[in-house]
Amino acid sequence: MAYLTLKNINKIYPNGYHAVHDFNLEMDKGEFIVFVGPSGCGKSTTLRMIAGLEDISNGEFLIDGKRANEQGPRERGIAMVFQSYALYPQMTVYDNIAFGLELQGADEEYIEEKVLNTARILGLTEYLDRLPRALSGGQRQRVAIGRALIRKVGIFLMDEPLSNLDAKQRVTMRSEITQIHRETGATTIYVTHDQTEAMTMADRIVVMKDGYVQQVGTPRELYFDPVNVFVAGFIGEPPMNFVKGIVEGGKIKFGGETIDLKHKLGDRLKEYEGKEIVFGFRPESIVLGKQPESYVIPADVELTEMLGDNTNVYIKVGEAQSILKIDPHDTPEVDSQITFSIPFKNVYLFDGKTESVIK
Ligand code: ADP
Repeated sequence: MAYLTLKNINKIYPNGYHAVHDFNLEMDKGEFIVFVGPSGCGKSTTLRMIAGLEDISNGEFLIDGKRANEQGPRERGIAMVFQSYALYPQMTVYDNIAFGLELQGADEEYIEEKVLNTARILGLTEYLDRLPRALSGGQRQRVAIGRALIRKVGIFLMDEPLSNLDAKQRVTMRSEITQIHRETGATTIYVTHDQTEAMTMADRIVVMKDGYVQQVGTPRELYFDPVNVFVAGFIGEPPMNFVKGIVEGGKIKFGGETIDLKHKLGDRLKEYEGKEIVFGFRPESIVLGKQPESYVIPADVELTEMLGDNTNVYIKVGEAQSILKIDPHDTPEVDSQITFSIPFKNVYLFDGKTESVIK
């Protein structure tokens, strides 16, 4: 049985704003789930309903099969780490981590054992006597996580916990949080607008847009099998290239080039005649030069960005712009002409009206 169940959860704020629509999710014990989507799509609202900080307007929330809608945050056995991790500045790392247990009146020996164990997991053992101001941003965030983790809870919630850190610290903390999750096995829900965080940390990802769940799946499923244009464009960096066109004679135009859709649509080609279609391909799923079983496209190079491990090539095909991600050794000259191939199997087609993927 699922450990956490969200059944048709809705949030309508008192001002009438419908922030979350029919959110459904079943979560296993120990899973690491990431809610991802652009700012304002309802991630925090959903997390706050799970935490018990916000009423559920409609729908049911179950913990271990039992309805929890009416339970307060404490009863639910939930710990939460927020974006702003206010530590007590006059208390040492040890005392900051111990604080929650001390409030609960736990005995000293028990507290010491728990603090030392938590500090070990978080790599904070040598900093226990320090004050927060003598720590780096990443270390402070680890103390905040330790403070939340030390209490025995079933569910661990994190709302954009890395957004106050610089880019380098974020990368380090990403793998540290994954490591902490592995060690503690805590059932975790993590909210972020950053698709890289979602892809690198999650067992499963929930992609949201405008209060609606778009897709739930493993990072692999979302990358290889996006259900619609939004998910395809949101997951992956740089994002998937899209070319829109009306199907005429089984073909669409990509800049000045003609794309024959019979390779992708086969017998269903007739169905789409006269309709709008979105043709999508990922920047990294092309091959330079001419390849068999591929769309072969000539393009003008507008700009190149050498990033070390790869080069982003900004191209124009007629008037249409796209990005290709290639081996830096093959970086072409700006203003030169190149030919590239998109293997048929790497092409995604979406219905122009519904934006759903065409399988
Ligand atoms: P996210 O976490 O994805 O950035 P939120 O869950 O914070 O999004 O917000 C979702 C939507 O609900 C936003 O449009 C936001 O403005 C709105 N919202 C959030 N809190 C309230 C509130 N207390 N009253 C009315 N609308 C709210």
